[in-house]
Amino acid sequence: METFFCHFRRTLLASPARAAGVLLAVLFLAFPPGVSPAPQEQETFVVYYGCSGQWEVATPLTAREKSAAKTTIVSAAGITWNLTYLDAANTGWNDTTRGPRRKQVLQAVLLNLSAMLDHPGGRCDVELRVSEFDGSGVLASGGTLYRTSASAPNGYQPGLAFQNITTAVDIAPTLPDIRLRVDWGWRWHEEFSAPPDDVQDLYSVLLHEMAHALGYNSLAESNGSSKFEVGSGKKIFTTYDNLLFERATGRKLWDANLNFQGSNLAGGANFIELRSQRAHNVYPGRTFPPVHTPTTFSDGRSLSHWQTAETPLEAIMRFTTPGGELRRGFSPFERAVLEELGYRLKPDPTFWMMY
Ligand SMILES: [Zn+2]
Repeated sequence: METFFCHFRRTLLASPARAAGVLLAVLFLAFPPGVSPAPQEQETFVVYYGCSGQWEVATPLTAREKSAAKTTIVSAAGITWNLTYLDAANTGWNDTTRGPRRKQVLQAVLLNLSAMLDHPGGRCDVELRVSEFDGSGVLASGGTLYRTSASAPNGYQPGLAFQNITTAVDIAPTLPDIRLRVDWGWRWHEEFSAPPDDVQDLYSVLLHEMAHALGYNSLAESNGSSKFEVGSGKKIFTTYDNLLFERATGRKLWDANLNFQGSNLAGGANFIELRSQRAHNVYPGRTFPPVHTPTTFSDGRSLSHWQTAETPLEAIMRFTTPGGELRRGFSPFERAVLEELGYRLKPDPTFWMMY
């Protein structure tokens, strides 16, 4: 394809008159009289952030952002992570004093994921968005991109991170697959040692946000519609959503036409569960893991985490992070959910807890 393009350009340069003839011939062959070229559809992708519940239409980096960005490649055990840091010089990830260690912690998290996921040749572009420093709201947020273009069918999407890691086919090469944002205004433990009480362990929080981006994410609005339905008219949910059921009634949350058929999404403890037989087999008490359904629906929080009180303390997708907690690896049932979402996992669990 590229060879043809280069050859064609050389032909054009050689003789303008001949070039015009060639061009007309090519156009005639491609679009005979009476057939107009179909307009190129504008592809649209939306990033949805776990924890914070924010979402934004993804656009390629501007020339200024591109020239300012620092990029790092982390490649080991089969997956290539391409990291783009958008912070200005000497702030956040690029802080002169603390930045290098912060980046080391992130890279260790990604190597941990590479060691767990059995996807040789997988690629994933991670954009570290401009950091926050106000110490309010969520500690950090992370998410992947979903296709909301006019031609995108309604249905359950895995997100671009899953697609690129498992197939290495990038359907949106000018866009990242994951966006992460950290608020450095909180008290962070940016080391590999255990954190002191009341200090947030950066490794644990980054792993949690990456898990959202890998697929631990719901796109359900409080009334059961898709978060994107108002803007795009699309009923787009996640493969994770496709596993959610009401515990008492056994009803799947969405019917075959993606209409909500649950009672509500704020039913309190153990109201909704994630029905994965693999997870059930290793979940304490042999039940399906219950998802977080606080009595008031909370964007980014409801459904995308485990029910706090009932879930094993070491689970990384519990919502609360009171600080001083070390959760640097997926629980067995959380690994099972990753498999349910479509990932292949390597067999050696000892390596996943290397830090
Ligand atoms: Zn979260």
